[in-house]
Amino acid sequence: MDIHFIPGNLNSSNSILVGNVLIDPGIEEDRSIVEALKRLGYEKRDIERIILTHAHYDHSSAARLFDCPTYAFGADATALKKGDDDYTLSKFFGDSLRIENIRTLKDDQLFNGLKIISTPGHTDGSICLHYEDYLISGDTVFAYGIGRYDLPGGSLENLTLSLKKLSQLNFEVLLPGHGPIGNKDSVMDALRQIDAFY
Ligand SMILES: [Zn+2]
Repeated sequence: MDIHFIPGNLNSSNSILVGNVLIDPGIEEDRSIVEALKRLGYEKRDIERIILTHAHYDHSSAARLFDCPTYAFGADATALKKGDDDYTLSKFFGDSLRIENIRTLKDDQLFNGLKIISTPGHTDGSICLHYEDYLISGDTVFAYGIGRYDLPGGSLENLTLSLKKLSQLNFEVLLPGHGPIGNKDSVMDALRQIDAFY
């Protein structure tokens, strides 16, 4: 499957396209994802599934632009189903977000060739996705540093355990939810950082 890293526009998260599966479409208002997909030769209707690494508005709200099924994990799927605007940070973005028909992923599941890995810490239902040499990491870990753990459902203790789990995986390229592309060292550096500062 082809894999494309689509850098986020304005406040939107980065998006990743693997085959016809779109991960983290970003912010609806920015509409940049639709344009970016067109530049790659994809129309909206070509997207067969959307996976959200977590429920936060800057990753998830553009899911409403698409007609295909949307998937998330654990507490984050529940928050989107219920329209919990505190958990999803929709309030902070001055909006409300509810995806009533969201579908739920399972930990360790192989989904359209992507391995789903439960990585609580940034939020309780955060996931990473492992595909060949790539790790799609959402806001769990960036090229340089870790995601926030002080938001609803966040925990530094869980984040540390999740990073240890990721450090056991074989991958070379880190595709994070914000900022530039990283690599396996990004995870090892993040663990050293936590050791040194907390
Ligand atoms: Zn987030």
